This record gives sequence, C-alpha cells and structure tokens, in this order.
Amino acid sequence: MFSKILIANRGEIALRVIRAAREMGIASVAVHSTADADAMHVRMADESICIGPAPAAQSYLNIPAIISACEITGAEAVHPGYGFLSENQNFARILEDHGIAFIGPRSEHIALMGDKIAAKATMERLGVPCVPGSEGGVPTLEQARRVAGEIGYPVLIKAASGGGGRGMKVARGPDELPSAFLTARSEAKAAFGDDTVYMERYLARPRHVEIQVFGDGRGASVHLGERDCSLQRRHQKVFEEAPSPVIDPDTRSRIGGICARAVAEMGYAGAGTIEFLYEDGEFFFIEMNTRLQVEHPVTEEVYGVDLVREQIRVAAGQPLSLRQKELRPRGHAIECRINAESLPDFRPCPGTVTTLHAPGGLGVRLDSALYAGYTIPPHYDSLIGKLIVHADDRPAALARLRRALGELIVDGVETTTPLFRRLLANPDIQTGRYDIHWLERFLADPD
Ligand code: ADP
Repeated sequence: MFSKILIANRGEIALRVIRAAREMGIASVAVHSTADADAMHVRMADESICIGPAPAAQSYLNIPAIISACEITGAEAVHPGYGFLSENQNFARILEDHGIAFIGPRSEHIALMGDKIAAKATMERLGVPCVPGSEGGVPTLEQARRVAGEIGYPVLIKAASGGGGRGMKVARGPDELPSAFLTARSEAKAAFGDDTVYMERYLARPRHVEIQVFGDGRGASVHLGERDCSLQRRHQKVFEEAPSPVIDPDTRSRIGGICARAVAEMGYAGAGTIEFLYEDGEFFFIEMNTRLQVEHPVTEEVYGVDLVREQIRVAAGQPLSLRQKELRPRGHAIECRINAESLPDFRPCPGTVTTLHAPGGLGVRLDSALYAGYTIPPHYDSLIGKLIVHADDRPAALARLRRALGELIVDGVETTTPLFRRLLANPDIQTGRYDIHWLERFLADPD
C-alpha cells in the first residue's frame, strides 16, 4: 500500500480523498493555488505545496508543477478527484512514465472513453445497449441526411470530442438539419478543436440513469447499482438519488450485470460510471466517465462502501474488496449540490462566509470544504457543498432532506438551498416523476 498520496484537486473532493487516506494510514499532500492558501484542503492535509497562481490553467491543470510536487514530497500516487485533470489521458500517462501511480484507470481507457465515437463502438461490441445512430463520424451534410432518414427524426448531432453538452444540436425535421449540422460542427471545432460529429436518435423525455462500476484491471469487476441524475440544469446535475425511482431489482441486476461484464472484458481498473438515457423501459448508453463522480456519495450510502478507499486499493494493485453477491442496496439516498449562486438566475456569488451551521443527526452527511470566515474565491466552480441524506425508503429520505435543509445555515453568500426547499414541495419530486427536461421547465415556470 502507498504511504503517501497527493491530491490534485481542491474543495470538497480534496477533503473526501484526504479523509479516506487518513483512515487507511496514508499521509496526504494537498496542492493549491495562491488563491487557495487558506482553503480547508490545505489545512486538513498532512502537507501542502503551492503549485501556481489562481487561474486553474497555471495551477490545478499545471502538470509539470504537480509532478514536481510529487517529487518534492515523495508522494507515490495521485488522486485527481473529478474535473481538472481527472480525465486527462496525458496526465495519467506522464504519471505512469514517472513511476507515480494514477488513482484511476489506465491512460488507454481514459483515451478510449474520451473519444465518444470509439466509446460507443466499444460499448456496442461489449453488448451494452446504445442509442440508435450513425456508425462513426458523419463528415458531410449529404451523409447526415442519409443517416437521419435511417434513424428517423428528431435527430441529435453530437461532437465526438464533446463534453458539458457543448457542440450538440437537435434537428426536428429535414429542414432543420443543415443548420443544426453546420452549427454543431463549428461549435465542436471552437470548443474542442475537432469538428468531428456523429448522430443519434433524439430521445424526447428520457431519464438519466447511470451505473457505478468497479474493475480491478485484471478481469474482475462489480457494479453498485444506479443513480438517477435526471434533475439537470444546462446539462449539469443538481439533485441525484439512489436507487432510481423507476428501476426495479431485476432491471438493476440485468443492466448492472451488462456493465460489470463490459468493464471486466476491457480490463478496466478502478471506478467508472456508465451513463444511460432511460426511456420507456429501455437503456441507451451515452458515455462512460472514467473517474469518481460528484454524486458518488449516494451510492456509498446505499451500498455502505467507501468508493475512494476502493480506488486507492485498486491503484495499489490490491484485489477488489467488493463481492457482487454481498452488494445489496439498502434504503434510499439523495444528494443536493449546493452552489454559491444567487437565484433565480444562478449567478455565481463568491464572497466571505460569516456563519456556517452544518446539519447533523442520523443519516445526514455534508461533504463541504466551507468554514465560517472562509472567503470563496471567484476563480473556480461554484459548488460549495453536497448535502447527502440516507433513510430506510424514499419518503423517509425526502423528509430527512427537508429536515436537514432546515438546519443548514450559510450566511454571507447566497446559495442554491432555497431551490431544494421548493423542489421538495413539488408533487412530481415527491413521486419521482421527472425526466431530464423537468427542472428546466420548472425553472421557466415554477407554478
Ligand atoms: P457531454 O459529454 O457533452 O455531457 P453526453 O453524451 O453525456 O454529452 O450528453 C449530455 C446530455 O445531453 C445528456 O445528459 C442528455 O441530457 C442529453 N442527450 C445526450 N444524448 C441524447 C439523445 N440521444 N437524446 C436526447 N438527449 C440526449
């Protein structure tokens, strides 16, 4: 096992990793920008090292500075968290070349899943259900017309190197195809430097259901059921729950089994998430994330496992400690992502936190790097905490979430907590009847 690891991240996820490491008897090294000198992850780690100025490109994305930090501190492995360098194949490869373990999959799997067309072809070959669409890239409008004719309108044009929902355009009929095709291509070129696009049938009202998988890199694997992340704003998840209100145990073991077999076959190592759209009882693969997800705590709560600990074990070459037949979901968990943003327009609202009172009690977990007196810097993501609750069933989890939100006090900055109080009062949320467009509709017309 490692004796020291470096965390190439900040905020709540850096704390999450430091905590897992400490329980395993592993020393932790925090890296930080000059803007984060007073951040909680710096205070909580065993050692810390400044890697550059405030802009992420010069600090949290600065690969040479992070490698130097490993060399100076003697860290044997790096946990990338999520975002930043977590899905950067070059970073994983450079660490591999320096004999430093990357706590994540091998660079080849990051590369494979980062290319949406290759990822989809791989999943199709491994028996994972995919959205009907083009076979590979669609280089010309003429070809786009032919593909659309085969799969039927509406169609979605997507960037092969896509991310964050950019370079994606819907064409509802043949007249909309030329402009959708050309706009998707130029957006893809501008955002990713690659104008390759592919096409899929556009699903009108799916849910987002994702499967948590784990591989040991040598052909063993497990799945830990699903998370339902359908409540999204601008393709960003806002509220996640496990299990999904619409997935029954047989469906879970069927799709979970398919996903676990796929990662075993690939020889995938570590944590991964296979994302699906789910409509009318059918699953359609959209992408695989080769890292820990923001919303991983809901899975941890219902399965009673520490996913970060498992990631560190696998990266150190140990076998999986999880056995499929022992993995049974218990109860229901919900996560709310709390951002320092002012409603109703979600404008980022950095500033100094004057008072912080964290909710507590049975089944309540707050993953946050906030403290009273902390000044949230304006340079990074506005996520300031995740409130996670776990209870025996969904109604009890909703009641617990309402109670916990009532106890949470963050003064000095505006946060998105009022949104969650409103959501909990809504009958569709109470019954679990929502799709990926529900939240946008609700925000446009709250009544
Ligand atoms: P990105 O990497 O840009 O996030 P994804 O493939 O994960 O791209 O898609 C992002 C979001 O776009 C999904 O969560 C879903 O809301 C929507 N989406 C993607 N594919 C389809 C599709 N075929 N039909 C309808 N919506 C889709």
